Amino acid sequence: MTDSAQPAAAIEIRDLTKVYKGGKKALDSISLSIPRGQIYGLLGPNGAGKSTTINILAGLVNKTSGSARIWGFDIDANPRNAKNSIGIVPQEIVFDPFFTPLETLENQAGYYGVPRDRRRSMELLRAVHLQDKANAYARTLSGGMKRRLLVAKAMVHSPPILVLDEPTAGVDVQLRQQLWAYVRELNAMGVTIVLTTHYLEEAQQLCDRIGIINHGRVIADKTTRELLSMAQEKVVQVTVDRDIATAPEAPCFEKVERVDERTLTITYLKDRANAGQVLAAVQASGLAIVDVVTRDPDLEDVFLHLTADA
Ligand code: ADP
Ligand code: MG
Repeated sequence: MTDSAQPAAAIEIRDLTKVYKGGKKALDSISLSIPRGQIYGLLGPNGAGKSTTINILAGLVNKTSGSARIWGFDIDANPRNAKNSIGIVPQEIVFDPFFTPLETLENQAGYYGVPRDRRRSMELLRAVHLQDKANAYARTLSGGMKRRLLVAKAMVHSPPILVLDEPTAGVDVQLRQQLWAYVRELNAMGVTIVLTTHYLEEAQQLCDRIGIINHGRVIADKTTRELLSMAQEKVVQVTVDRDIATAPEAPCFEKVERVDERTLTITYLKDRANAGQVLAAVQASGLAIVDVVTRDPDLEDVFLHLTADA
């Protein structure tokens, strides 16, 4: 596909609302634009509406109102092209237990009308480290193996967008890293990745951009770097040259804790003070500083701050 044939955004969601039968409003007019070529993290607490959003894109849940475009194709006006442009790994593992991984991928390729000579089932199984299980029954696979098979299944029609809903839930650390390595590889080849995860550290490391939803509303949609810079609290730990009887106080300290005889942990707010002022205040109290360690705020700080209910 030439560059000009590609849409500006991989996924464009406008005022999407979902009210489930029974009245639960899972999505309250969310709008998101997911740039192509990126790894985009959709984060939010349990029940925020992440899976609902993804399942609407997958055509598994009907929206109540609003619109969504996948690779430029409206999901109502052009459902077939929209579907062909996306591969989805759902949160729930569903399989026909009587097919082998190889058959599962071949069936899926058939479903998408991929001609036999363009199928690459074994290549996909190798990519997710399941080549040895190609002919085993799906019911004999472990949870982690099934999850990886679902990733391969989502890629059989070579979509430009891969969406993974909590792909690493219940997957051990080593396999999780293998999965992320594969996701990075796909992204390097140009596939736009959208993922939801509970592991904020992973999101921070993997994602170019992060959207946070809470109670069915978008509360942040920024580059990972911008999001991290929103954290207000910074922490500096100082070691001083003599035993501290009582922790010093200063207007620029938000919080100060005596960790041991010679160590203080001082929290300050980025927009009110800087590390230089904090250290100067320690010295002004008569202590000489022999060592300094700072901790950068992480996504968890920002996330907790943003999702804390008023
Ligand atoms: P997340 O994936 O962020 O944890 P979900 O999209 O699964 O959140 O759920 C959003 C809200 O919608 C939750 O309150 C959930 O209980 C509700 N919900 C999800 N699926 C259904 C359904 N099929 N019927 C009724 N309510 C649902
Ligand atoms: Mg979910």
